[in-house]
Amino acid sequence: LRSPIASVKAMVEVLQDGAINENDVALDFLQRISRDLERMTTLVDDLLELSRIESGQESFNIETLELSPVVGEAISLVRDQNRTGISSRVTLINDTTNMDVMVERGRLIQILVNLLQNAVKFTSPVGEIKISNNLIDEFVEIHVSDTGSGISEDHVPYVFERFYKVDKSRSDHGTGLGLAIVKHLVQAHGGEVGLSSVEGEGSTFTFTLPLGKTEEAFNN
Ligand code: ATP
Ligand code: MG
Repeated sequence: LRSPIASVKAMVEVLQDGAINENDVALDFLQRISRDLERMTTLVDDLLELSRIESGQESFNIETLELSPVVGEAISLVRDQNRTGISSRVTLINDTTNMDVMVERGRLIQILVNLLQNAVKFTSPVGEIKISNNLIDEFVEIHVSDTGSGISEDHVPYVFERFYKVDKSRSDHGTGLGLAIVKHLVQAHGGEVGLSSVEGEGSTFTFTLPLGKTEEAFNN
């Protein structure tokens, strides 16, 4: 948060010191200020949301849902977002078998989109991203696998922490809140997150959600 604030402050000072009278410079600065404000807004929104979820203030509209169609929807969303980018050639595969899960629909999409965006960001255009699932006891385990950069062993325990970025010099504007939000959303639904990764080969992010109850089970 500090760096965009410092940069806005500096640009306002330069404008006040006279740059306001040079039309081109002033316009350029205003555009930069606007971009920085945009970033700060996203950051503050993410932080507020995270603290609401963490403190249990957020209530969820949990329903029994078929997993596969929601995965398909999340994949389409991420495809649309990347249509013009270099990563548009990454292959996104819905390899799920249909199971019922108990979750708020919008939150499941948010979890999947966060994981898919990361996978796209850290995978070269020839790579592949696949979503699959399996059943463990009363939980559905959902895996988002990529053939991207992978994460070295010493970073793996920390990536779900807020603001944690393996490569801080990366200029991708990410704030490092995506996975913290994923973790707290999953936990708020009674699930857990996990990660297995091999540097240079790829990563598999896993989360669990309670298996959807059939009406019969509800009646018993
Ligand atoms: P934000 O999600 O807030 O835009 P971000 O993507 O950098 O920013 P997270 O989603 O929390 O933040 O991810 C934290 C860090 O974990 C990333 O910066 C990256 O270093 C690492 N990471 C996450 N997903 C992957 C992945 N699929 N492959 C390799 N590294 C990853
Ligand atoms: Mg992210």
